[in-house]
Amino acid sequence: MAGMLYLVPTPIGNLGDISQRCREVLAQADFIAAEDTRVTLRLLNHLGLKKPLVSYYEHNKTASGGRILDRLLAGECCALVSDAGTPAISDPGEDLVRQCAQAGIPVSALPGPCAAVTALSMSGLPTGRFTFEGFLSTAKKSRAAHLSALAKESRTMIFYEAPHKLLATLQDMAAVFGPDRRIALCRELTKLHEEVVRTTLGQAAALYASQSPRGEFVLVVAGAEPERETVSLDDALARAKALVAGGMSRKDAARQAAQETGLAKNAIYAGLLD
Ligand code: SAM
Repeated sequence: MAGMLYLVPTPIGNLGDISQRCREVLAQADFIAAEDTRVTLRLLNHLGLKKPLVSYYEHNKTASGGRILDRLLAGECCALVSDAGTPAISDPGEDLVRQCAQAGIPVSALPGPCAAVTALSMSGLPTGRFTFEGFLSTAKKSRAAHLSALAKESRTMIFYEAPHKLLATLQDMAAVFGPDRRIALCRELTKLHEEVVRTTLGQAAALYASQSPRGEFVLVVAGAEPERETVSLDDALARAKALVAGGMSRKDAARQAAQETGLAKNAIYAGLLD
């Protein structure tokens, strides 16, 4: 019988955020697959656990993933952890989960720390609809293509970024989304120097042009305002005439039709006088 792959989220800065259930799964798993075994060893020492560790990271995931799969198929249970946060979210794990799904090995994901959701929830920006964009590419062409594909995105957007690339990213975003677009820069979440700066892209770029960013950042960027439908002057005039026919004064009808269509009140009023 196949074993089970557990996806175990770990703290993104505050060790107190490890859940009781995550401790139990780490304690009970036959072995732990870790992005960096030294980082995970520190966590296990903190929890007072001793477990067999194997490494599973970006550059060994094909070979290591094959060995993990064999052990799961033989009936063992594996807990997968990344350095911090939720495995498979901008971290190794996605491939292993897909391979397990294909091989009929059950996967269980434990809920827990994730920088993206933590940042979104405290951003002050709309949370009803959002899109996770991860890291922008460092290659100029694909980075530009990624941003321009988002130019009209109306949902709140979440990006991860390293501090040394932050300024260039803010400048590129300001160029594509406009300097007035709102952004929440969520820094060092759950750590001693946690900070959220709610500002605009233009001001954020100016801020980090004058001081070096430190620590880890999640960028939460407001979506684009929905585009107003373009209405012709004839349509606006027809609307104003209908309002006048309903008993409204020409002046009020022109004002209301202008509000509804975004066209100039004077032009609609002039049309009504003709
Ligand atoms: N799997 C992780 C998760 O669930 O959040 C994300 C790992 S990704 C390799 C690392 C990026 O997450 C960092 O570059 C930063 O953008 C973000 N991040 C992680 N911890 C953070 C923290 N404490 N504060 C702000 N951002 C953080």
